[in-house]
Amino acid sequence: MVKSHLILNNVKKYYPIMGGVIRHVKNYVRAVDGVTLEIKRGECLGLVGESGCGKTTLSKTILRLENATDGTIFYLPDNAGNEGKSLEMEKYDILKYRGAKLKNLRKKIQIVFQDPSASLNPRMLVKNIIGEAFDIHRIASGKEKIDRIIELLRSVGLGKDHLMRYPHEFSGGQRQRIAIARALSTNPEFIILDEPTSALDVSVQAQILNLLKDLQQKYNLTYLFITHHLLVVEYISDRIAVMYLGKIVELTKTETLFKRALHPYTIALLSAIPVPDPEKKRRRIVLKGDVPNSVNPPKGCRFHPRCWLADDVCREVEPELSEVEPGHYVACHRVDEVMKQFY
Ligand code: SF4
Repeated sequence: MVKSHLILNNVKKYYPIMGGVIRHVKNYVRAVDGVTLEIKRGECLGLVGESGCGKTTLSKTILRLENATDGTIFYLPDNAGNEGKSLEMEKYDILKYRGAKLKNLRKKIQIVFQDPSASLNPRMLVKNIIGEAFDIHRIASGKEKIDRIIELLRSVGLGKDHLMRYPHEFSGGQRQRIAIARALSTNPEFIILDEPTSALDVSVQAQILNLLKDLQQKYNLTYLFITHHLLVVEYISDRIAVMYLGKIVELTKTETLFKRALHPYTIALLSAIPVPDPEKKRRRIVLKGDVPNSVNPPKGCRFHPRCWLADDVCREVEPELSEVEPGHYVACHRVDEVMKQFY
């Protein structure tokens, strides 16, 4: 089986800003601005960053709910390369998919949204919410369909009794379980989890995270877990990518990121996490200013107006995401200085 599951090359998503008397494109919101990333089969990749950094737009672009402005996205299904020939990558570029190919892709890639109250139709019974995909993709009908819906409900900790109820009859955690069951209904290989626990109480968050971990093992799933909450992503992810203003600035194993983050932005994010031990003190870094506007991102390194290490090069030249240690990618000109100051 091919190790890579999803490969993004220089993916961009720009939204035009119209203006003027004869309406024309005046500028662009650069929501995603050149993301290159590989997600391995069976892993959970955490994608973290502040609100508005482009995480959700990236997930919608992968799902083809938004059309990418530029770049390629290769989705390699579980049977990719089984023909025994060398991989013809072109045929896996999902940005070129249309019609039946796109419909089939949507069976393989599913999403769970942040707020189950908004993502579940309040007028539909649970059996219809979960069963909808069975009809769209002609997966099952009649008794077989009901049996499979019950099986899905059981796999997320619910049961037969819940079939004929409406979403408002459930708690927030139960609603998210229904949303997860719906995502599993097409037998997907890859699930995007977009802040799936952010709208839930802390005690319920842990239950949902454990459920997601169990389901990943049971169904051999690959996850892209999007959140702004570093502790949540530490619990569930194998690797973490940190995003800032439309770009990935650091990517490494979860353990490495928490022990030895090398991008100043990641270090600042980590420094904001409270330490439970009063004996231990962590150097708190308070970033100045807000995230700049993605219509006119700063020249050079996008983080330089907020970075305490910024120098002239940072203000002029945009750093590339490059491998500074095995498997540890950072987009920063001054990694040596970061090491000197922190490790
Ligand atoms: Fe800071 Fe310069 Fe590194 Fe950007 S490139 S994060 S401004 S040190």
